[in-house]
Amino acid sequence: KVRVRFAPSPTGPLHIGGVRTALYNYLFAKKHNGDFVLRIEDTDQNRYVESAEDYIVESLNWCGIPFDEGPGKEGDYGPYRQSERKDIYRKYAEELIKTDNAYYAFDTAEELDAHRKDHEEKGKTFIYNWHNRMKLQNSLALSENQVRDKLDADENYVIRFKSPEYENLHIKDEIRGEMEIDTSTLDDKVLFKSDGMPTYHLANIVDDHLMEISHVIRGEEWLPSLALHFMLYRAFGWDAPKFAHLPLILKPQGKGKLSKRDGDKLGFPVFPLEWKDPNSGEISAGYREDGYFPEAVTNMLAFLGWNPGTEQEFFKLNDLVEAFAIDRVHKGGAKFDPEKTKWFQQHYMHEADEKVIAEKLEKIIDEKEIKVSSEYVLKVVSLMKERAVFVNDIWDQGYFFFLAPTSYDPKNAKKAWKEDTADLMQELIQVLQKQEDFKAESVQAEVKAWIQQKEVGFGKVMQPFRLALVGAMQGPDLYEIAEMIGKEETISRLEKAIK
Ligand code: GLU
Repeated sequence: KVRVRFAPSPTGPLHIGGVRTALYNYLFAKKHNGDFVLRIEDTDQNRYVESAEDYIVESLNWCGIPFDEGPGKEGDYGPYRQSERKDIYRKYAEELIKTDNAYYAFDTAEELDAHRKDHEEKGKTFIYNWHNRMKLQNSLALSENQVRDKLDADENYVIRFKSPEYENLHIKDEIRGEMEIDTSTLDDKVLFKSDGMPTYHLANIVDDHLMEISHVIRGEEWLPSLALHFMLYRAFGWDAPKFAHLPLILKPQGKGKLSKRDGDKLGFPVFPLEWKDPNSGEISAGYREDGYFPEAVTNMLAFLGWNPGTEQEFFKLNDLVEAFAIDRVHKGGAKFDPEKTKWFQQHYMHEADEKVIAEKLEKIIDEKEIKVSSEYVLKVVSLMKERAVFVNDIWDQGYFFFLAPTSYDPKNAKKAWKEDTADLMQELIQVLQKQEDFKAESVQAEVKAWIQQKEVGFGKVMQPFRLALVGAMQGPDLYEIAEMIGKEETISRLEKAIK
């Protein structure tokens, strides 16, 4: 059975790279009728940020890629927070010592620092590995009695993995193919600390095994850990899951990895939801708060490192599940293109059900304490939707449906408002007064007839008329606007303009 997991560390907000990893895991799971698990990797107490887990869960839900098992959705493999699984790991670390795949190391921070300095002075880099492990304070180098004494005296220790000296590992990655790694280049990574906490490597492998994860799909930054993970599975005698390492997401200019900081610098969000830093109070923009629809974000993310091999560009989640294939994921980095996200947003905005947009617009209008019927809002949406990318645009470009303009665009006012305009508008008011049903069509017929009979240019009437109703030269058909706001309001706005 396909079981995949998204395993973020709750150290801050989920960056869109993390959301993409979650998305690809979700798509892969759903494509193969598998399970998508959320595991919170919170063993590093120093970097733990309390609000991060909620943020992660909310982000996945907003994107429409909920997990099947995870914190708050207990399945058969819980608990799903590593801090709650703390007691599980020690016995596995000890098992590796018994099988001579790991050892206790008692070196203090000062001792290790001294080794580092010493090496530096000789122009070398100190690596804790097979090459010098026998000269250090560990259970391979010390006598059995010495080790027992240290343990009895409660000295601080770590448990390190014993990497093979010379071995060529052949490891398969579903995206990159077979890779060869020479173990002599590896250091002896820490697996367990005397504070009772495992490191990422041990906890990750033990949990993937216990949770019966079939495929590990994660970012390329974990590729350097792959050899160790591979050797850990082997040391335990477990079948390793299949691995797929996703390409980096690059800055829009294409040089370098997209970072959490880039959003602020470049003026586009790199987070799914707005994030308030609990320490600094600093706020980073999110796609949700900026008005993007989740469909636009998931469509954009899907193409960051994958393509369907066809011309089709618009994919809703269901279509993505259908089309997604791990072997179509690219090896090379994917350039992030914020304009493309906007383009997807525009598409989904135009495609969206007008009722759904109206509901969102109603929230904006409610906040401004304007009272109108839902029907009215829906009509505004159908008149304005074509021009909008975000729901907010409908307010920005169509606020005159709800409020009289408080000022007139000065440049256009100068052009439109001539000496005789006030008199013309006064006459227009008389024409409108006579209009009974005040439907766009009939108002238009009446006004047209009057203009023709008066023999003035259309622009001379229509420009100041628009200015009076809208405050600027923009907006949909003026007669539609007049019908929408109604006879009384139309005349009142004209009167106000004349003054
Ligand atoms: N906790 C790791 C992270 O924060 C998980 C890496 C993995 O998926 O193995 O990305």
